[in-house]
Amino acid sequence: MPLLVMKFGGTSVADLARIENAALKVQQEVERGYDVIVIVSAMSGKTNELVGWVETTSHLYDAREYDAVVASGENVTAGLMALRLQEMGIPARSWQGWQVPINTTSAHSSARFVSIPREHLDAKFAEGFKVAVVAGFQGIGPDGRITTLGRGGSDTTAVAFAAAFGAERCDIYTDVDGVYTTDPRIVPKARRLEKIAFEEMLEMASLGAKVLQTRSVEIAMLHRVPTRVLSTFTPDVGGTLLCDEEDIVEKKPVTGIAYSRDEAKITLHKIPDRPGVAATIFGPLADGGVNVDMIVQNVSEDGKQTDLTFTVARSELARALSAIETHGKEIGYRDVTHDANVAKVSIIGIGMRAHPGVAKTMFSTLSDKGINIQVISTSEIKVSVLIDEQYVELAVRALHSAYELDAV
Ligand code: ASP
Ligand code: MG
Repeated sequence: MPLLVMKFGGTSVADLARIENAALKVQQEVERGYDVIVIVSAMSGKTNELVGWVETTSHLYDAREYDAVVASGENVTAGLMALRLQEMGIPARSWQGWQVPINTTSAHSSARFVSIPREHLDAKFAEGFKVAVVAGFQGIGPDGRITTLGRGGSDTTAVAFAAAFGAERCDIYTDVDGVYTTDPRIVPKARRLEKIAFEEMLEMASLGAKVLQTRSVEIAMLHRVPTRVLSTFTPDVGGTLLCDEEDIVEKKPVTGIAYSRDEAKITLHKIPDRPGVAATIFGPLADGGVNVDMIVQNVSEDGKQTDLTFTVARSELARALSAIETHGKEIGYRDVTHDANVAKVSIIGIGMRAHPGVAKTMFSTLSDKGINIQVISTSEIKVSVLIDEQYVELAVRALHSAYELDAV
């Protein structure tokens, strides 16, 4: 039997009526002849509520118990979905992560998949089940305890199942009808993309577009899983297909614009300009679990001292500053300044490789609006700039027009 993975996000299973609506979509695919693995999220708002309960009960909570509590939201929707399908006469059963089993690392609250053995579910399909409903976002660690994959993790569950079971396609049902050129709440003229290359989607997701968890795109790209993002509420709009670069005919220089307000900038003034100093700065940050994103180091005027600026997630600013200050003596800076009122705006497109002058258009567009660029970073298919947070919306709108992405 051909197999499909269908994933329903929190808003698609927000109440019993919506679970029924989602179940009707599953029924359609079963009637088309597919076996289906359904991955469900918790009802929208549920995970936040559970996280809140944990934090209120215990300030420095035990991560194992956090996972035990927070994974429960998906268990509820998995069972309800299986019941609804049974009511429709479809042979369906629910599975929690440990029952499959979905084996993960032991990193509680941010676990990664180790393996998803097929035997158990394959046997169930062979017995006559048409639908396996699996709780997203969770697994079981090497110590036999429940783990979770990080917020938004049920996207990753879905794509990983599609890869493990060789699914024909992975359909991610959500509350938007696809991936847009940018956030439509900021740019009403944003357009839905018919297709987006895996590489582009990976950049979009990691640079702030919130449609899919970044890890899910990594897995889709690695295993070339044809993945579709589509709305549960407007069924017949085609959604967006994540695909190989070769499958995209018209490669505009820029495909999409992403932004992130979760940024903070730290500058170390007058650090010694000698070999090894970067390691003394970024070593302690890495040891403290702080992810560093953009980095710039100036050329020193006198060959002895220079300034170094880097960015971290805003939520990690305090931890980063404390790691730097603890190692102040070894690093040997004059002083440290920081700014949390910054944001990152990025342009993304595989077409950039073939079109010269793409970055120049970005810089001149921002300068026409009087927006100062604080830090720049680039890769083959993206350019990111750090700017004052108050100009994010202005910048995104101006760039969206400059690269001719506005819907006509
Ligand atoms: N329910 C989890 C969350 O809200 C996982 C998910 O929905 O993807 O993060
Ligand atoms: Mg999500």
